[in-house]
Amino acid sequence: MIVFKDVCVGCGRCQPYCPAGAIHFDDYRSTVDQELCFECGTCLRSEICPVDAIQEPANVYEYPRALRKYFSDPTSTHAVTGIQGRGTEESKTNDVTLRCGLDQVGIAIEIGRPTLGMGLEEIQKITRVLARNGIHEIEPNNPINSMILDHQSGDLKPELLDERVLSAIIEMSIDKERLPDILRAIKEVIPELDSVFTLDVVTMLEPGLTVPPDVLSSIEAEGFSWRPNAKINMGLGKVTE
Ligand code: SF4
Ligand code: SF4
Repeated sequence: MIVFKDVCVGCGRCQPYCPAGAIHFDDYRSTVDQELCFECGTCLRSEICPVDAIQEPANVYEYPRALRKYFSDPTSTHAVTGIQGRGTEESKTNDVTLRCGLDQVGIAIEIGRPTLGMGLEEIQKITRVLARNGIHEIEPNNPINSMILDHQSGDLKPELLDERVLSAIIEMSIDKERLPDILRAIKEVIPELDSVFTLDVVTMLEPGLTVPPDVLSSIEAEGFSWRPNAKINMGLGKVTE
């Protein structure tokens, strides 16, 4: 985002709206630190500026900076997947996509939220530790997949590493018995991470609407606490044999 300094009247109203702390005064007018800005669009969408000094720059859709907008602005559509909201439907449409089957668990590592954000290097720390532990199955329909240069090492494309986003989701589906391996790999990377994350473990309910006990015991055995969270999309369900 940019602020036209010759239009800005220096009221400062826009500054508290920025989750990145990227807007600051410079010579009594607001300016945006282009390194810190996530291109989330919050300052513009708030319509708080009395003189319309806040504008989206022409380069906001240029690669690799465009990733800032795709992952941070909930109104943008990710160019790789054509999906809004961090570029993935994750578990929300599993009833029809069956990304995560009956003998599998889905994993979604949601990093950066709430409102802390991170550099894409934090994603690489996770993809690398997963790769070191033999976990290479990043979901093909997740935009992170196309950002990986080498699936054996988990390295991201180097031109991405200076970019910053508000939040992103690393997703995969694995056989249930490999859940402990994933959980241990994630614990390994926690001390290195310079952001916050939520770990989603996605599973289909068993008859009687119970969470599969083997999934819960794996989570608890690795020292994680959990709380149930259902994603129910009325009308999407279909019968599977
Ligand atoms: S686009 Fe988002 S991160 Fe950038 S200045 Fe505006 S509110 Fe801050
Ligand atoms: S709200 Fe507009 S006029 Fe006020 S400081 Fe921000 S950019 Fe300048």
